Amino acid sequence: MIIETDKIVYEYPDGTKALEDVDFQVEEGKIVALLGPNGAGKSTLFLHFNGILEPTSGTVKIDGEPIKYDKKELMKVRQKVGIVFQNPDDQLFAPTVMEDVAFGPMNMALSKEEVDARVKEALEKVGMNGFEKKPPHHLSGGQKKRVAIAGILAMRPKIMVLDEPTSGLDPKGASHILQLLYQLNKEGMTIVISTHDVDLVPLYASTVYIISKGKIIKEGSPQTVFEDVETIRAANLRLPRIAHLMEILKKEDKLPLGKPYPLTIGEARRRILKELDK
Ligand code: ADP
Repeated sequence: MIIETDKIVYEYPDGTKALEDVDFQVEEGKIVALLGPNGAGKSTLFLHFNGILEPTSGTVKIDGEPIKYDKKELMKVRQKVGIVFQNPDDQLFAPTVMEDVAFGPMNMALSKEEVDARVKEALEKVGMNGFEKKPPHHLSGGQKKRVAIAGILAMRPKIMVLDEPTSGLDPKGASHILQLLYQLNKEGMTIVISTHDVDLVPLYASTVYIISKGKIIKEGSPQTVFEDVETIRAANLRLPRIAHLMEILKKEDKLPLGKPYPLTIGEARRRILKELDK
């Protein structure tokens, strides 16, 4: 496992218990989704993956090694695990896009040529080349998100953790980001994302965790997780729209659609055509 937490508990200084006995595992090369309503503990959990937060109890292992919380070790962990925050304004601070993306690699004591090459490559990957001289605050939400991702990519981490990567974006912007993540994953990067967008999860995640009130209440393939409708609803989440439609067609209209319900438009189309063919 490239990320493994063992029974982590986290209590904020004001006494809020945000995580309770969380076991979370990510296999190298996968896309894993953490699904949960607002306030469930998603951001708190993610901040443990590169040591920004230290668990009150329990351990976090990256690449099999427990994180050590001294400055030197944390630097190493942060080169392996890059976190893209939910709000790009928390991440972008330099006067230009170029300087922003260069910030991480510059702190890795690389040569200027290497930093420049990495910045160029990262901006190309996210489709933001040509914006080098722009101030980040003049960019759209989706563009800011892409620059924030480029800043992480320029450090060449093994793992990229993204907190709500599609929140606040229009459908096209969201779809761009997901395609980019899918591409990065195909090139070998392990990706962990948090979201409350249940429609998107089955399209790309191989494993889904559901978190509610600081506890992991379900994990498995999207198929397994979304079959457990009661748990989904108890966590104030819903089924993907397509699965919901299938549930209604079956219950209300007695269409002979057995479980597992299709989770994506593609699967639903195949199943319905098959039924019509009979
Ligand atoms: P999510 O990312 O799923 O929306 P968070 O991890 O942000 O959830 O929050 C989990 C819980 O911790 C919530 O009850 C929230 O109010 C609380 N919390 C988050 N940040 C802080 C903080 N800095 N101090 C105290 N409580 C916090």
